[in-house]
This record gives sequence, C-alpha cells and structure tokens, in this order.
Amino acid sequence: MIEGIKEIGEFSLTKSSSSILEALVQDIPLEGNKTQYLVIINFDLENKKISLDKEEIRKSTPLDYLWIGNPKAGNSPQDRLTTNNLAFLCSQTIPNLIERLDEGELKNILSLIKNLFFYDLGKQIGQQNRYRYVLDVKKFGLSNKSIEQIKKEALEKNKNGYAKEVVKVVTKEVFSYLKEKEGISKREIALFTIKCNDKLLVSLPEYHTYIANSVIEEKFKSSTKGICHLCKREAFITYDTTQFRFTYYNTDKIGFSSGLRGKSNDGFLKNLGLCKNCYKSLLAGETFIKNHLSTSLIKSLLIIPQLIFSSSYMSEILEEWAENVKSHFNAVRNLENWKMWQALKNQLTEYKEIKDAFVIHLLFYEASKSEFKILKLIPDVPPSRIETLLKTANELQDKAQEILGGKDSEWYLGLDDMYYLFPVRKSKNEFVDYKKVLEFYDALFTDKPVAYDFLIRQFVELAAIYRHGAICNYNIGRRNCQENKWNEQKRDMALVKAILNANLLLLYLKELTQLDGGLSMSEKIFSEIISNLQRKKESVSGAKKKANIESQLHQYERLQRFIEEMGYSSLQIGLFLLGFLIGEIGKAQYDSSNKTKPILKKINYQGMDKGKILRLVNDVLEKLDQYKILSYNEVIYAEMKKLLDKNWQSWNISNEEAVFFVLSGYAYATYRAILKGEIKSEETNDVNKEEENE
Ligand SMILES: [Zn+2]
Repeated sequence: MIEGIKEIGEFSLTKSSSSILEALVQDIPLEGNKTQYLVIINFDLENKKISLDKEEIRKSTPLDYLWIGNPKAGNSPQDRLTTNNLAFLCSQTIPNLIERLDEGELKNILSLIKNLFFYDLGKQIGQQNRYRYVLDVKKFGLSNKSIEQIKKEALEKNKNGYAKEVVKVVTKEVFSYLKEKEGISKREIALFTIKCNDKLLVSLPEYHTYIANSVIEEKFKSSTKGICHLCKREAFITYDTTQFRFTYYNTDKIGFSSGLRGKSNDGFLKNLGLCKNCYKSLLAGETFIKNHLSTSLIKSLLIIPQLIFSSSYMSEILEEWAENVKSHFNAVRNLENWKMWQALKNQLTEYKEIKDAFVIHLLFYEASKSEFKILKLIPDVPPSRIETLLKTANELQDKAQEILGGKDSEWYLGLDDMYYLFPVRKSKNEFVDYKKVLEFYDALFTDKPVAYDFLIRQFVELAAIYRHGAICNYNIGRRNCQENKWNEQKRDMALVKAILNANLLLLYLKELTQLDGGLSMSEKIFSEIISNLQRKKESVSGAKKKANIESQLHQYERLQRFIEEMGYSSLQIGLFLLGFLIGEIGKAQYDSSNKTKPILKKINYQGMDKGKILRLVNDVLEKLDQYKILSYNEVIYAEMKKLLDKNWQSWNISNEEAVFFVLSGYAYATYRAILKGEIKSEETNDVNKEEENE
C-alpha cells in the first residue's frame, strides 16, 4: 500500500510544475451547494487598523492561498498563515513564526504585527505559554469586550487553562463580529489567511521556503545514511513520520492492529527509514489521494491504487485516471453511481488500456483532528473484481424483476443497499457493531466465502426489529429517525422489502459462488398441478372460468420459477409456502376490518422449532377457513403439508432458518399483493392501531 501512495506521489510531483508545496495543497470539499468563504485578516500598519474581508471559495482558492493543512501532531507549533482554525491566527501562529523564521522581510512584518495588534498576557506555565499573545480585539474595534473583561471571564471559567480560555473568548468575539458585519457564520467559513498592508503574506517566497523546510528539510537535518525502506537505495534517511496524515503499517509483517501510530519511535516505524525523495513522494501521494480518491462505504474510505506495471504517461492523465478509478469503485455502491459510471465509461480512452494494470487497496478509517484510526484495510482488489460485482448485481436485477415483478430499479443491490440488511446497533449516536459489515465487504472484494448461517441470523434479527424493535436504535432507521413515524404498516412494508432483498443477497452470493452453506437444491414443485391445470384450461368452456384457471396457472408458474431460481430445498419450500399462506391471511385481515395483520403475531422471531411450526400450520388452516380463502389456497396448503411431512423425520433446519423461510414466503405473497394493488404500500391515513382480538 505504501508503495502505491509513493507512486501516486511521484506522478503528482512530476505534474506539479513549481514545487512540492503545490503537490501538498488540499482541496476544500464542497458541502452541497452551500457557499463557503475564506476570511482575510488584513493588518494595516500605517493606520493601525484591522479589517476583515471575505471571499467565496473557488476551486483555485486552496492553491492561491497555499492551504496545505495544519501541522498534524498535537505538539507541533502552529505556523500556517492559511489555516482553517481562527484561534491559531488569534494567538500562536504569528509568535511561533517569528521565533522560527530566519531574519528577513516576513519576520519583520510579523514582529510589527505582533507588537502592534497583540496583547501580552505575560509568561504562562508549560503548554499554556503558546497562548501568551492574543489579538487585542477591543482596541481594534472587533469587540466591545476589553481585554480586562476577557481575562476576568476566562479566569472565572477556567483557572488552570486561563490563557487558552482567553484565546477561546477572543476567537468567539471575532466570529460574532464576522456574523454581524459580514453576515457569515462560523460554519460558512472554511479558511482564514493574513494580509499586511493589503499584501498577502503566504505569497512571500520566504514563507514558501520556510514551509518546505519545516515539512521536509528539517526532517533530514540530523539524518544518517541508511537504506531507504521504499526505494532500497542508500541515502540520508529520516525516521520522522510526524508529517504524514495516514497511519502506516506493514501489512505483511504486522497486519493491522491498534497502536501503530505514525510516530518515529513507535512500533515498527522505527525501521521505516525514508530517503528525501520517497519522503516527499509519500507526502504528495497522501495529499493527492485525499483530494481525489476519497469516498465512503459506511465509513470514510480511501482508494489507494497501485500500478502493476508502470505507465509512462500516467502523470499526464493522473487526475482523469483517479476520477475513473473512483467512479468505477463507487458504482458498486448504488444504482445512481452505477448509472454515472455507465455514462463516464463510454467517454474513456486511456482507462480501458490500463484497467488491468493496477490494483486498489481500500482503507477504511475514522479521522478526528488529532487521530487517524484505521478501521480496516482490504488490499489488492483488482478492477476486474469490481467488474464482477457490478455484472452480478446487474444480472440479479434483471432476474429479480423477472421472478418478483416490479420495477427493475427496485432490485439493484449495491453495497450501500446491502448495509441495510445487517442490523447495526447505535449507541450514543455512534454505530457500534458495523465491523461485521466491513468483514462482509472484505469477503465480497476478495472472493472469500460468506457463512450462510451468519446471514440468516442477521436477516431474522432484522425482521424482528422491523416487526417490533426500536428501529431508531439501528442503522435501518436512517437519519433523523422518529420512532412514532414507524407505524405497523410502514414496518410491515419495510420487512417485506428487506426479506426479499435478503433472498436476493443469498442469490447474489450463490452466483458469485461465495455462499458457504444453504441454497443449492433444485426442487421442482407444482409440476403436476401445472400440467393438470393446463389440460383443464383446454377443456373448460366459458371465458370467466378460463380466466380463473389462467390466473391460477400464472401464480403457480411464478412461484415455481421463484423457488427454482432461489434453489430452495424441499423443507425450505414447505416453510416458504407456509409463509405464503400467512401472507394470504394477512391480506384478508388487512382487507376485512383494520389495516393490521394479527396473524403475524403467530411468528416467533426468536426462532421456531418443529413443534412451533406445527402449531403455526394448524393456526394457518384455521384462519384460512375463518376468512373463507381455503378453497382458493388449498393446492398450496396441500403442497406445503406434503413437503413438511416428507421432511418431518429428518428436520435439518435451524430455528432461525425456519423463521427466515416462513418470512420469505410471507414477503413474497405480500409483495405480489402490493403489485396487484390489493395492498397499498404507502398508506397516508393513520393506521388503526386496534387489533383483532385473537
Ligand atoms: Zn527512497
């Protein structure tokens, strides 16, 4: 992986005409259509005034103002004149720079600014000393609060961290000023920078030299000769990796585990000596990947490509190529992305040629200001694997439409959609057990088997939550979940859809030959019934009778096709048909009085053994009779009974699995009823909560 990042960095550096700094410039991610601003703090030395200006962020803004991020580690002094953190500019940046810069114009200007516009709190103890100087906001008309007032306020709030508190208050005052005078809120501001007498300080060559030094040269100041870990050449090498944004680790040696932080004297990184060229390339590679190859799949995700054989013109097409790599990957996520990829794919020229020339590494991570935490790495995924997943999803979509009906767009199973087939618990607004889903994705990308029993347990748990769980405590509640909006009918519809999709997921894995256990039979049912009906159709007279037989025929043929396609065993079919009949009863109950389906209470989501299934069979018979729909369903009832009897002695199905197949039959019957308009999938009226007394 690290080689891939270095390689991308080399291409990116070849392309960046002027300097390494250009290759380190970070994009500002657009937040929807919201305008974001850069705020310029202009110090006027002659008139002793501060003015604040705003500028809309454009694509070129990060480069124009040299936004390369803040120094990473918590202990590094803040020294960037363009930053996303106003507090830095209100206190420590300028004093830090003065201390570190060589004599010259920039140092002089900054010293003048510090002396004129900053207030000295006096020497502070330890870490607090970095907050010693703060912008004097009242003196320069940015606030009504005098420095005395601010100091008092800070002392009352936090005696030990008093200086830090002062900076907080000052920063807050500047934000209020911006809100009031410029009409922009904190959230709309992405960057801040400094001018002095209208001159942009980040454009001074001294600043460029200084930053390049602090990011690179300094790391090699006291370096020794050694063998570079990446290029294997002998050179001056550094072990200082504090500038890197991603945490590195060697997958061959250590695998990934916690505690492998990007610090020089920590873990295996001790051995990761880097020469200056490789060091620069890694920095540039990281920036390029963050800018062009970031996406998400439940969690933030970086796509790190690595060429298998080199391509000389890569640096020329680097950005276009990256866009293609990303779009291609994103296509596995959902239908919308797949459509975008189809549109893009046709315009590509070079992509086809080099498609097989690289692999991608998928790095799932969580990043906070101070920490980059790796959640999972899926290495060495070839683009052909993505292609296989896309093709399988497409074929499945067509097949699903054929065996289930509905619109084909309903049945695209992307990786985003699959996420919602796994119940993932939420605790304090954080999803806690998402790792099982990342493991599942891993299996998809690397062609590993997925345990059938594991999936069945997930699906049955999912169904139980839809039926009567706290939906908002799970991922399936989506964003802004409100429990009271999940009335019984909405839950029922979601359950039906989820169970059908769960069946499709099993089929998808079966197609990929990755399903470990479960579906593999090819039982034919209804064959005799269908041929009898066909004969009967020929012999009856009367259009109505004929039509009636035809509709029955149609139903059995559809069922036969679905079951065959799914590869259910005879016992699984029996349970599926039992569920199908529950769907028929539910439909009748829904029709008759209220919109609820008391029959669903008979399903036990904890799992059902033979005895419970037998009781359910008896309940079903009784209800079919009660709602006078037995005659219409007696063929299916008889078939179900026959199949269960046949398997009674050799009952080889888990209690969860039994529930899953009953629910599958229920979902199938209900979905067919929705398509025929017998059940409305979107009920706008309030659902009658009163339930039939069972
Ligand atoms: Zn090297």
